[in-house]
Amino acid sequence: MIPAASFAGKHVSLFGLGGSGIATARALIEGGAQVLAWDDNPESVAKAAATGIATADLRGADWAKFSAFVMSPGVPLTHPKPHWTVELARGAGVEIIGDIELFCRERTLSAPEAPFIAITGTNGKSTTTALTAHILKSSGRDTQMGGNIGRAVMTLDPPKPDRHYVVECSSYQIDLAPSINPTAGILLNLTPDHLDRHGTMQHYASIKERLVAGSETAIIGIDDSWCAQIAERLERAGRQVIRISKRLPLTDGFFADGTNLMEAVHGRYSRVAFLEGIGSLRGQHNAQNALAAVAACLRVGLDLGEIQSGLESFPGLAHRMEQVGRKDHVLYINDSKATNADAAAPALSSFNRIYWIAGGLPKEGGIEPLRGFFPRVAKAYLIGEAAPAFSATLGEAVPYEISGTLAAAVEHAAHDAAKDDSGEVVVLLSPACASFDQFKNFEVRGEAFRQAASAIDGVKPIGGAR
Ligand code: ADP
Repeated sequence: MIPAASFAGKHVSLFGLGGSGIATARALIEGGAQVLAWDDNPESVAKAAATGIATADLRGADWAKFSAFVMSPGVPLTHPKPHWTVELARGAGVEIIGDIELFCRERTLSAPEAPFIAITGTNGKSTTTALTAHILKSSGRDTQMGGNIGRAVMTLDPPKPDRHYVVECSSYQIDLAPSINPTAGILLNLTPDHLDRHGTMQHYASIKERLVAGSETAIIGIDDSWCAQIAERLERAGRQVIRISKRLPLTDGFFADGTNLMEAVHGRYSRVAFLEGIGSLRGQHNAQNALAAVAACLRVGLDLGEIQSGLESFPGLAHRMEQVGRKDHVLYINDSKATNADAAAPALSSFNRIYWIAGGLPKEGGIEPLRGFFPRVAKAYLIGEAAPAFSATLGEAVPYEISGTLAAAVEHAAHDAAKDDSGEVVVLLSPACASFDQFKNFEVRGEAFRQAASAIDGVKPIGGAR
């Protein structure tokens, strides 16, 4: 745990007592603060109180005495409307912050030289965070990973000069971290997302921009116009910017040329790493993630040999284009995290001959946006409530069956794929749907796929994300 010494002897109010809220309250108390905590959910309040955290309805509190109000990132700060606690804090002139801000202040106080890599973007945050931490760890660096992935940031080990932090930041967390100051800040990409919580794309982008604006070195994916503009703006303001592109040769920066990762310096290119043969990093989207990780690792002093060997041993993340098994020429891929068409697109674009299991609880627009990938689909196996709508979209373009359940879909797809003699083929679960009609969540759905695949005679598990 990182004791939050910056509030020693001060009063702090805190709202949101989920896992990270409780961890943050404990870190504040450990650092010597007097914390008064609350949540709209009585069960969460009871749970926190049972661990010795002082709780009270903050409507009745004396806000004048608080030095800060610490809020969980899940609680609305601005949209659709500020939470009642936000109104009370603003009315009393109390600053509103979150756990990433506490972390930044502790690092600045106790070990400002501790390398700190912060990662955001609309897509690829978790993969890039896990990959960066993996490369650092496998090169023998003391590495702590957390934030929006895995452990809440204040439960990590305390900062010391040679300890590396790799922290995934959601836009909500950045919104609550006004002094975020990473050694290297990564902004991967920006597409419309969470606009219910951020109002407009402009506002969403401006929050994400803060992470790189506060960085010593800003690493920015410039393949979308929002990020390209941010890179230009920061550079004009005199900041150090490293551009990355998954598709364009750059004059300066890092870009992907097929599976080669290239560095450009004033128009001169050299290969810094490669992804050929790395099953956990297939696809252009992963080239973007890997470029960002490579740039960040170079920034904090790793050499190319250490980076390449980390890339090669990266196990990947569960449920994101995760290789779960193989039998001869048939590879089984679990992409259960793809809960809408946009999220399924990277997997469909990464393989050439696909036995595609899709369906579940349908989202608006269905699989129409994926039509461009239909020629890669040898056959589709439709499950769940979306099956009739998906079959109508597939129409004559793709052979399909309505399998109903995931178990039946895996069995039938395995049978058909085994008979395919056109080289490597994949049985791919990339549902383009939520899971809730048949499964508790996407993780349970992905686990069911793994089990069904490994139950097929002769399928050998591929070690990886477990
Ligand atoms: P996040 O943490 O931002 O949600 P993840 O790393 O968990 O991202 O990846 C979730 C899904 O997003 C992946 O399964 C893949 O479909 C897609 N994805 C991953 N990286 C990228 C990227 N760089 N650009 C676009 N899509 C991506």
